[in-house]
Amino acid sequence: MRLYRPAVRLQHPNWTAIAIVNRPWTVHNLLVAGLPGAERAAIFAGVMGERPRDRAICLRAVDFSETSQVLHLLTREAGVVHLLAKGSKRPKSKTGGRIDLLAEGEVVYIPSRGEGLGTLVEFSERSGHAALRRRLADLNAALYMAETTAMLLAEGDPHANVFDLLSAALHRLDRGEAPTRAVLAYFQWRAMRYVGLLGTMDRCVACGGPLGAAGVYFSSREGGPLCRNCESARTEKIPLPRPALAGIAALAAMDRREQAALDETAAAAVIDLLAYHLTYLLGRSPRMLRYVRPDTRPPTPGPRPPR
Ligand SMILES: [Zn+2]
Repeated sequence: MRLYRPAVRLQHPNWTAIAIVNRPWTVHNLLVAGLPGAERAAIFAGVMGERPRDRAICLRAVDFSETSQVLHLLTREAGVVHLLAKGSKRPKSKTGGRIDLLAEGEVVYIPSRGEGLGTLVEFSERSGHAALRRRLADLNAALYMAETTAMLLAEGDPHANVFDLLSAALHRLDRGEAPTRAVLAYFQWRAMRYVGLLGTMDRCVACGGPLGAAGVYFSSREGGPLCRNCESARTEKIPLPRPALAGIAALAAMDRREQAALDETAAAAVIDLLAYHLTYLLGRSPRMLRYVRPDTRPPTPGPRPPR
């Protein structure tokens, strides 16, 4: 006996498809003549209704062809998504025009199925962060935040808290209401806490004892500070300067909505410490680091443990 599945004919200006439908009316398969696999997958996802609408910030934009871009967007609900924006560079693009780094807005997209890129359907910019772009230090800090966010988050790993944190930091730079370095230090510290790469900094990570007044180190491998007694047994470590510890204590206090001040020196020490930690964990330092900290040599962590 042959089983016939109901088929539905789908009409679109550019293609015709036959969808094989299972009860209760889920599309089982899609036959589209003459289309490459990626487009067929995109249409299939479209037919299936997978067109998330989400808030997004552009972390990376690369020209793909004369008219198209590849975008790495941080979405609020789905984390980082990699999308092909077809024809986005055309003046009258359906997707809303060329999309710049740091652009923030609402996105509609078709997620990738498997390894490839998803497809951008629409991007409505809400803020291009024009105000911060007028000040080079703020622009460099914003680009550093976008780059390190992309380094910290794997594709498709949702962190709504990191999205909110980055959005708030960019708007804070726009308004110019806080010193650039303080905004950057707070963002870096909070983001690394959110993704679980940084623990508390007020005790020795090895023995749990107090840190003492001098001889304190930080170990990326251990994921925190080391007291004088514990540091000698560890090879991967950097001296943890007082301003960095004081800065992190101030950031933690701000997070608890207590009164605290973060001066320029402390903010810079926190940025340097977290850059070291990031470099150790991810195997390379952020490219924007030398623009954010031009007078400082990039940190060079010791060898990473074999995976
Ligand atoms: Zn210790």
